[in-house]
Amino acid sequence: MPHESLPAYFGLPEHVTYCTRCVMSNQRPCSYPEFKHTKDRRTPTMHVDAEGVCDACRYAETKERIDWDDRERQLQALLDRYRSNDGSYDCLVPGSGGKDSIYAAHLLKYKYGMHPLTCTWPPIMYTDIGRQNYLNWCDIGGFDNVTFKQNGRAMKLLTRLSIENLLHPFQTFILGQKNLAPKLALKFGIPLVFYGENEAEYGNPIADNNQSLRDKSYHTMSDISKLHLAGVSVPELIERYQIPLVDLMTYLPAEHTLYDRQQIDVHYLGYYVKWTPQEAYYYSVEHSGFQANPVRTEGTYSKYNSLDDKIDGFHYYTTYIKFGLGRASYDASQEIRNRHLTREEAVALVRRFDGEFPARYFQEIMDFIGMKPDDFHALCDKFRSPHLWVCEQGNWRLRHPIWQQSTPVDAEHGAVPGDQRHADGAADGVAKAAAATGAVIQAESAANRNAA
Ligand SMILES: [Zn+2]
Repeated sequence: MPHESLPAYFGLPEHVTYCTRCVMSNQRPCSYPEFKHTKDRRTPTMHVDAEGVCDACRYAETKERIDWDDRERQLQALLDRYRSNDGSYDCLVPGSGGKDSIYAAHLLKYKYGMHPLTCTWPPIMYTDIGRQNYLNWCDIGGFDNVTFKQNGRAMKLLTRLSIENLLHPFQTFILGQKNLAPKLALKFGIPLVFYGENEAEYGNPIADNNQSLRDKSYHTMSDISKLHLAGVSVPELIERYQIPLVDLMTYLPAEHTLYDRQQIDVHYLGYYVKWTPQEAYYYSVEHSGFQANPVRTEGTYSKYNSLDDKIDGFHYYTTYIKFGLGRASYDASQEIRNRHLTREEAVALVRRFDGEFPARYFQEIMDFIGMKPDDFHALCDKFRSPHLWVCEQGNWRLRHPIWQQSTPVDAEHGAVPGDQRHADGAADGVAKAAAATGAVIQAESAANRNAA
């Protein structure tokens, strides 16, 4: 194996191993508190077991065996303890108006009789459709909402620094998305916070999924001088970059002592309710006027996953550079686990769309953060780990793309190839994949008809 002697950046496993069920590899990083993310961090990555199955697929298997009726009873019992009857809010649902937050808030209010306040950490740069979906969430869905409009100057600088230092354009968004709701819950005295699904479902150690409460390490802190934003320590941001502490606090979690004084529990609704992204999508179309992207999202084949921030496409482009896994890999893996795609179709989709450059908003984003496009490309090249990438005649290519692997495939999982949707008779993988994409679009129009 010639690549075994090549350096692997970020502490990634030197040998690339793909899951035999989905299209993820052992290069996928696990979730990790962003304020501990430094330039020399050794990235914890997803485990692929001795049978060649990744933790996310193992969890999907576990999910099929969960007694969801029992989980719903647990949810009812929890909600019964907290439901208010004096007109006050009893839970807080963070979201920017994507399908998952719409689904969570709507279920809590209209199915379970709770009184949620919703809160929003807005995207770094809203897309038009994202802003409209956010408004529909409040206006058609019927929710009060507190939006935290960030200080744009600090946001720009931190976003640029997180790109320069970590090639991580989405960090400022992730930080706010994880910290705002628990902090507002403290301020408003709301005891319950509900996120939708647990991000750990997509590849953290399986134990992380076996509880409804989010680990406090994501939203509490004890020593501010040890925290990092954009890969730079807080004291250095203040001294070297002249950012006042008050402008940084927005991105940081609350002191753990505040949570000791006031009980705030942060739950995943996905622990209690079986969470299927496609179902959440149909539901939000029907109940909240949610609209999918009118055009295909760059880097993938889907039209309804995370489309509210112009920077989304950049986020996935950088995961492709750093880990060899782009947006189609993430989308298709999840759809295999929900049995909407076969692995063969997914491989074809990855081959066709993964790593597609997100050109649509590129110039606008560069203008926003004040970076020259050429500098961005040069920066990307610095983050290409030699064990994943090779440059031949000025063209970069992945050393171990999934379509060149002879990974034994565990075909028991994923969609059944004889499924109606795949009955186009196409032998070619890409054509089949395109047919599957068509299926997604058809399903969307069905959902739109139902909503009308
Ligand atoms: Zn897998």
